[in-house]
Amino acid sequence: MTDKTPKSEEEWRAILSPEAFAVLRKKGTERPFVGKYTDNFQEGTYNCAGCNAPLYKSTTKFKTHCGWPSFYEAIPGAIKRISDNSLGMSRTEIVCSNCDGHLGHVFKGEGYKVPTDERHCVNKGDQFPGRSWDYQCFDLQSQGSAPANYTI
Ligand SMILES: [Zn+2]
Repeated sequence: MTDKTPKSEEEWRAILSPEAFAVLRKKGTERPFVGKYTDNFQEGTYNCAGCNAPLYKSTTKFKTHCGWPSFYEAIPGAIKRISDNSLGMSRTEIVCSNCDGHLGHVFKGEGYKVPTDERHCVNKGDQFPGRSWDYQCFDLQSQGSAPANYTI
């Protein structure tokens, strides 16, 4: 069930682990190669850790060596793109359309052989213990075609 109720910073702090709060609400970036789903290509849907809205299908996940889960396309309307000029770089931040939780960044034109030529580099946060991260992974009830297996 998607929770569409806007939450205050204090409310988010109460339901998310400190690490999850740092990524989703403070735009932190987790270390690479820590998320257990980085190289997992099981079928399902990746849902927002903050509000449980479906964000990405496993069929749009593809293999990279960047250390974070990578997708070439979000579920239509699931994410918003925001221009991000922090850290001296011009990047495109992606956030959850429903709760504005920070997800990661989109990179375009890197040469991956995927339909959109985009890489959605998404924090998963699944290395963090705590209830709030338990439901953000796969919805194993969803069915889809075989996961994509694109590489450079
Ligand atoms: Zn959300």
